[in-house]
Amino acid sequence: MSFATLGLSDVLVRAVAATGYTSPTPVQAQAIPAVLEGRDLMVAAQTGTGKTAGFALPIIEKLFPGGHPDSTHRRTPKQVRVLVLTPTRELAAQVHESFVTYGGELPMKTACVFGGVGANPQMKAIAPGLDVLVACPGRLLDLVGQRAVDLSKVEILVLDEADRMLDMGFVHDVKKVIAKLPSQRQTLLFSATFSKDITDLANKLLDNPARIQVTPPNTTVERISQTVYRVPAGHKRALVAHLITMGAWEQVLVFTRTKHGANRLAEYLDKNGLPAAAIHGNKSQSARTKALADFKANKLRILVATDIAARGLDIDQLPHVVNFELPNVSEDYVHRIGRTGRAGRSGGAVSLVSPDEEKLLKAIERMTKQQIDEGTLEGFEPPAQGELNSDRPERARGAPSSGRGQRPAAGAGAGAGRGQGRSDKPRSEKPRSDKPRSDRPRSNQPPRAARPNSEPQDSVSEERRHQANGNKSAPSTPRTENSRKPAGNRPQREKPALFGR
Ligand code: AMP
Repeated sequence: MSFATLGLSDVLVRAVAATGYTSPTPVQAQAIPAVLEGRDLMVAAQTGTGKTAGFALPIIEKLFPGGHPDSTHRRTPKQVRVLVLTPTRELAAQVHESFVTYGGELPMKTACVFGGVGANPQMKAIAPGLDVLVACPGRLLDLVGQRAVDLSKVEILVLDEADRMLDMGFVHDVKKVIAKLPSQRQTLLFSATFSKDITDLANKLLDNPARIQVTPPNTTVERISQTVYRVPAGHKRALVAHLITMGAWEQVLVFTRTKHGANRLAEYLDKNGLPAAAIHGNKSQSARTKALADFKANKLRILVATDIAARGLDIDQLPHVVNFELPNVSEDYVHRIGRTGRAGRSGGAVSLVSPDEEKLLKAIERMTKQQIDEGTLEGFEPPAQGELNSDRPERARGAPSSGRGQRPAAGAGAGAGRGQGRSDKPRSEKPRSDKPRSDRPRSNQPPRAARPNSEPQDSVSEERRHQANGNKSAPSTPRTENSRKPAGNRPQREKPALFGR
């Protein structure tokens, strides 16, 4: 099957060929004709299936039938013809990039809006009217409130990664956005999993949708080799360094459960000659963008990320994913390892499992209906007692500290210098130890006082708390796409109506 047989015009077939795709993926083969027919869609597709092109290509075809501007519709100032909602900034940027790439030969006007960056350039971009706007819900609502954008003429709505949007507590924001749209429209809903919440949402939003399911829900991608290593929490960071070094892994995405854990691990690896940077919700947008760009350009070997930050990262040929800790939610395991083995390529996912994570591992194995192979730790020299690191700060605090110095990670060259490419070191780099200052080993831990009493589990729970608080208190983090002005300062919006249709 070719892209041309799916009903795309030459200009798009050329654009697709230029990106190197030779044939449509299964989700594209089913979604493209259905979107062109004007049907609503409900698509169960994990990231990595090619779902973005599955909606972007037929949408562009509809905007430019046969490669020419649609004469019956014109752009009007501040109005938007196609709206794509995504849960994270990174995903928004990537989806937008896909539109720009596929529509490169066409006079298509697009923009991408999310929080954490200035709103003025976004307002300017929207002002003349747009064919496609890719947006995170929070910033979009701010712009609607400031009358910078008019959604009353949206013809096509795409909800991308709808499950994650709900997980992140965006349901109210999504409802508010939908209340601004005309009821006559085409709606495309993409979700990795179809929980009851998503099905309920789909039932309210979609009109006789075509249902597409390209992989059975909650199954891991078969071509990804999966391995678990059972190790005490304190051995994990040395083991990560060992695996990366001994396997000569060139590009690795490591998942941690917490932002502080991501910082600590990135710093440890970097100090041991393995260039690493952390990305998470506390990092500025520019730091996140730079780390991602360096990683994609192979200037940075290791990216350490929390689930939310990593959501939507589209990095071609990412060969290795490491779960430094298992995620609390089993579905996240599937999302995480979906970062590798993308679009038909093989990949490897490694999970480090400490005794207290056995339950999580069992839940993942139950959900994915498989037993994950256990790797051998041959050649790995566990760190001495004094060099142990637990990612759980409260436990690490009480841990005995008998070692004299910070030994380089097993396998990480002892003489290796600092890695290049770090974009965002934590400001505070004081050693953390119970020893007298003069006797402290070189350590990369932040000082005790600098650490919060209770570390947020992850950006999801942080965002949920913020949402539960009615968005009243500004989150402690810099502004993100999720964080907006306190309600009191925000322009009054009309009460959200029920889902329109
Ligand atoms: P997505 O699931 O949309 O995040 O896409 C995952 C990856 O698949 C991206 O890197 C795309 O560039 C790539 N991709 C999309 N469509 C195709 C195709 N037909 N053939 C090969 N790669 C593709």
